[in-house]
Amino acid sequence: MKRPIIVGNWKSNKTGADIQTWIDEAVKQKDIINIFSGQIIICPPFPYLDLFLREILKNELHVGIGAQDISPFELGAFTGEVAVEQVKEYASFVIIGHTERRKYFLESDELLSKKVVQAKRVGLSVIYCVNDEDMFIPDGVDVFSYEPTWAIGSGKPDTPEHAAEMIANLKKLHPTLLSLYGGSVTKDNVSSYMSQNCIDGVLLGGASLKFDSFFSLLQQCLV
Ligand code: PEP
Repeated sequence: MKRPIIVGNWKSNKTGADIQTWIDEAVKQKDIINIFSGQIIICPPFPYLDLFLREILKNELHVGIGAQDISPFELGAFTGEVAVEQVKEYASFVIIGHTERRKYFLESDELLSKKVVQAKRVGLSVIYCVNDEDMFIPDGVDVFSYEPTWAIGSGKPDTPEHAAEMIANLKKLHPTLLSLYGGSVTKDNVSSYMSQNCIDGVLLGGASLKFDSFFSLLQQCLV
């Protein structure tokens, strides 16, 4: 099987102690994790980017770091926002347009496009989430993630065949972008997505939280 891109989005889960535990367990499996040569990208909450970066450097874990969101503004008087320059000190990737940002924070295509512009200004790689084949993807995006809303966190994933059809259609419009499938991916179904030619990787929510289930999923990608 091809070596997939595996993005773990921790959302607003975990305290510092939980993150330390996850890392301690990951360090024990460093040799396997490093086989993925940086194609595993973990997206911790903002307050823990620093902890995560320090730990992976100290332990020589070859894992990428992503932020889960970004400010549409530059550095300045924008209370509560985290600017791209600040994220760039810790992360190389950023997720933009996740379903939960669109749903709970009413983020529009226009706002999301501004975030992409900011991210590209400092050279962050953008992982952009869409829920179907008709959704807008701005210029500058590096990777898109097809995630049907009903499949996220529901335990009801899209079929690999339908996900592949949606992703192939998106790739017709955006041939240079890498692609992910997201939505209730687990160790039991990850291989079925990775065996689809047009799918380059997966975006995980729940399955990335506990290290043991995450590691079981990684092992499926090595067979
Ligand atoms: C997600 O939040 O993008 C996601 C894919 O979550 P889950 O894997 O839990 O369905």
